Amino acid sequence: MDSFDCDLFVIGGGSGGVRAARMAAQRGARVVLAESGALGGTCVNVGCIPKKLYSIAAHFHHDFADAKGFGWDVAGATLDWARLKHNRAHEIRRLNGVYDHLLRTAGVELLHGRAHVAGPNAVTIDMAGGSRTVTARHVLVATGGRPALPDIPGREHVLSSDDLFDLDPFPRRLLVVGGGYIACEFASIFQGLGAQVTLVHRGEALLRGFDEDVRHFLAAQLRAHGVDVVLGASPQAVTRSPDGLAVALSDGTVRGADAVLMATGRVPNSAGLGLTEAGVRLRADGAVEVDAHYHSSVPSILALGDVTARLQLTPVALAEAMVVVDQLFGAGQRSMDYELVPTAVFTHPAIGTVGLTEAQARARFGPVRVFRTEFRPLRQTLANGAERTLMKLVVDAASDRVVGLHMVGAEAGEIVQGFAVAMKAGATKAQFDATIGIHPTAAEEFVTMREPVAG
Ligand code: FAD
Ligand code: NDP
Repeated sequence: MDSFDCDLFVIGGGSGGVRAARMAAQRGARVVLAESGALGGTCVNVGCIPKKLYSIAAHFHHDFADAKGFGWDVAGATLDWARLKHNRAHEIRRLNGVYDHLLRTAGVELLHGRAHVAGPNAVTIDMAGGSRTVTARHVLVATGGRPALPDIPGREHVLSSDDLFDLDPFPRRLLVVGGGYIACEFASIFQGLGAQVTLVHRGEALLRGFDEDVRHFLAAQLRAHGVDVVLGASPQAVTRSPDGLAVALSDGTVRGADAVLMATGRVPNSAGLGLTEAGVRLRADGAVEVDAHYHSSVPSILALGDVTARLQLTPVALAEAMVVVDQLFGAGQRSMDYELVPTAVFTHPAIGTVGLTEAQARARFGPVRVFRTEFRPLRQTLANGAERTLMKLVVDAASDRVVGLHMVGAEAGEIVQGFAVAMKAGATKAQFDATIGIHPTAAEEFVTMREPVAG
């Protein structure tokens, strides 16, 4: 036992901070956690969870459309946006309570207020009743990130993803700027909820970093569902017009909208935390610079999750927290494996992907074999809709290992999660071939593709 007030002070009660605090306390550490907003952070309050609830709501739109061919008459279904918002808020409050309960029962002391580092082993928290300084053997910065909005004329008229969950009234016309996860998901969700959506992206294809086939296929599918996808353009100015908002684009056109969402990336929450004053080095983008074991340039101060601006995904923040807790209070030092992290984009249809894109695999391995199939899902045979499914495998020719697996189609996230286990275990194409399919499913296509399209 040393003379510090606690063993671990966690700044930020989001995905990474809550996991680290709870697991450290369960291992006997004296833990204090400060949260300035609502427990659960981005994921629970304005990210994964409310987004997925709205995505489920949006899917009903497509289900109603598909139902007719299956004999159901559900014409005239309307969305009660106020009820959806109310029910979402209720569920999120329940989850905030669950997090509070989990932390308190683990023995974590919770402080509600804004914290900043006051030295290598001290944190000051500004709370309703005044401020308090706590000394700690280790300080963990898990303050996440926030939306980054481009500085264009009329910026005061635009919204970030944080603002969309409680938007009032529901936008008849939504213009979304960006081509990343949030832009694609929100464009798809609000189209499903009934808005007329325009998606404006500066690049020539959506979702930079994803497999090229996936990028083009998704744009085609969003268009087939009625999203107006405008590529190679970016907003120059937003002005109020008698008819809502007018967005001037770099291609010379002006688009009308009731609401404009800027989904143009996120920046780390590192400012005003006293980090540089304490000697913590930040990268040019504001991210806390950490080594392979999450130590900053000040050894007693660690950081993980979105504030380090690496893979900004909740399961990654959770896994990083476990590595930190093991290192500080458990089995000892180990490294986090960032290979083969699966991810999904909750568009309609969804994307699920794990491993390398075809281009990355060629760059890393040289010769690869590529298997690809594109088909009309069984549901669409009676529904007679335009939706199609894409599945793709990238195989290292030398080892026969499946190094990339990509899907655009219904439940892609659910399907790809299982295949990620196989790939983590080093599955080869021969083992995929030896696996019996489940019929009739879309997933079986991953084990029945026999003829390479390239390689
Ligand atoms: P956060 O969850 O952001 O938590 C940081 C916490 O620190 C916040 O609660 C904040 O209030 C608090 N804080 C900040 N500064 C201080 C301070 N000075 N004092 C006290 N507290 C402070 N990921 C997925 O895996 N799947 C998804 O489907 C998904 N969907 C997303 C959808 C949206 C719209 C967004 C924005 C993100 C989504 N993400 C998704 C990403 C995911 O939410 C983040 O990667 C994850 O929340 C990061 O966790 P974190 O602990 O690093 O930070
Ligand atoms: P991303 O980094 O994914 O995408 C940002 C997009 O905005 C890119 O298309 C980028 O274009 C574009 N952009 C950036 N700056 C400008 C600008 N000044 N003008 C016009 N366009 C611009 O960020 P998101 O905000 O979508 O999401 C942040 C992170 O949150 C994601 O990377 C992901 O890690 C996480 N997330 C995960 C989800 C999931 O798991 N399902 C869902 C939502 C978020 P370009 O490509 O040309 O740089």
